[in-house]
Amino acid sequence: GSTIGVLGGGQLGRMLAMAAAQLGYRVTGYAPPGDNVMADVCHDFFEKGWGDKVALAAFASKCDVVTWEFENVPLSAVEMIPPHMLAPHPRALGIAQDRLKEKRFVEELGGRPAPYASVGSDQEFAAAVERIGAPGILKTARDGYDGKGQWRVASVRDADSVRFPGNACVYEGFVTFEAEFSVILVRSHDGEVLFWDSSENVHEDGMLATSTLPASETIAAQVDAARGIARKVAEALQYVGVLTLEFFATKDGPVFNEMAPRVHNSGHWTIEGAATSQFENHIRAVCGLPLGSTETRFAQVEMRNIVGEDALTAHTILAEDGEAHLHLYGKKEARGGRKMGHVTRVSNAAA
Ligand code: ATP
Ligand code: MG
Ligand code: MG
Repeated sequence: GSTIGVLGGGQLGRMLAMAAAQLGYRVTGYAPPGDNVMADVCHDFFEKGWGDKVALAAFASKCDVVTWEFENVPLSAVEMIPPHMLAPHPRALGIAQDRLKEKRFVEELGGRPAPYASVGSDQEFAAAVERIGAPGILKTARDGYDGKGQWRVASVRDADSVRFPGNACVYEGFVTFEAEFSVILVRSHDGEVLFWDSSENVHEDGMLATSTLPASETIAAQVDAARGIARKVAEALQYVGVLTLEFFATKDGPVFNEMAPRVHNSGHWTIEGAATSQFENHIRAVCGLPLGSTETRFAQVEMRNIVGEDALTAHTILAEDGEAHLHLYGKKEARGGRKMGHVTRVSNAAA
């Protein structure tokens, strides 16, 4: 059988590996030492640093194809993998790892981000707040996730209370949105593109809390325009695999937030809620198999993240609700605000 290599070791990789196993593949993971919950479900796992060229070569020699579940894998590590083995193409990583590049790239393809400015110094921060105004958000250009590395500026006067952290940042205007949604697509080697339905995403403290289908009418009215942008991004990158773009639904149409060149938290509902999950279709795409239908199979779907200490009592839902689908990621530490699992509920009951 074939072996799929996955760079990264988190829950996205764990769910990718489970989908790969169902299709008869073996999975080998690679990530620096840590709480690598993907390792539990892998055939083999390299706990080695991103700078370890010998280990990366040994990893690649065991694989037939290599993908990633983590968008901040250093490009220097990805470059150690023979290019013909990689899917998607690493150019997607280079763009998505930098908020400034990402916004410019999507803007050139016709997408509309919030007003933004590059910030590389205290002076540039002051100038950005002056030009764009407040409220706004200062975000580190690289390495942020789950709302980490972001500082909200409530008013122009309040800007003094936010310090420029010293590394490259983006300041962006705060978007008055009616709702948030994401476009998740899969593109095959042959260029076939399929979209899952866009759920309505609610965030709490900068982190996804719930994804719900059907989405509001506001979102439904903006999905086609957002898909148009996402498709252009996928084509421009000659992308193979699952790609996600996050949007704000505003009074004036969809505003692009950010992209993720990978499976996405807002697509976890697809495991039970769609004919083919985002994880299975990513595996199919990178292995060159035909894609499966992305159709939603239920009238209502809700995915809720289990965060932090809530994981300790999460099993109680099994007694309360025989239709709840519980997913726990097996993380050893429930320390502050980590994503520990999720629960999905699907139903065809009349609304
Ligand atoms: P992740 O990659 O885990 O989705 P992240 O750290 O990259 O998170 P963002 O997507 O930039 O974070 O922001 C997280 C959330 O914060 C958004 O989904 C949205 O709810 C809010 N947010 C971020 N930027 C803005 C903005 N410009 N205007 C309004 N809300 C925003
Ligand atoms: Mg992000
Ligand atoms: Mg986000």
